[in-house]
Amino acid sequence: MFRTEFDDPEGIRHGGLPTFNYRCAPVGLYTRRQLAAEGLTPGRQPIAGQIFWRRGNRVAYLYRRDLAVPKRPATDAQLRALMKAWVALSTCPSCQTEYGYYIPKRYGECLACFEGGTR
Ligand SMILES: [Zn+2]
Repeated sequence: MFRTEFDDPEGIRHGGLPTFNYRCAPVGLYTRRQLAAEGLTPGRQPIAGQIFWRRGNRVAYLYRRDLAVPKRPATDAQLRALMKAWVALSTCPSCQTEYGYYIPKRYGECLACFEGGTR
């Protein structure tokens, strides 16, 4: 049986937010997850509506597909900064060896230095 109790396209019962049943969202309104599937994010647009599902126990917000923006891949500068941070965090300050993992903060140096640690 088809439930329509949450249908409220004018948002009269839901504080002005257009409300729909799951699978009844109008064309052009997407959930964040649906946008992500197309490589998009809602951007700075306001929530355009909401859908209830699981008998109203769960709510998902809807965004306008035409206002969504592509997810930006990290810029070169961001990647360089990340790489630098990565190298700094995975280089042992004692022996300057670069490892493929973060130097444990607890030791402050690589395990070899820590365990050898009588310098
Ligand atoms: Zn070391």
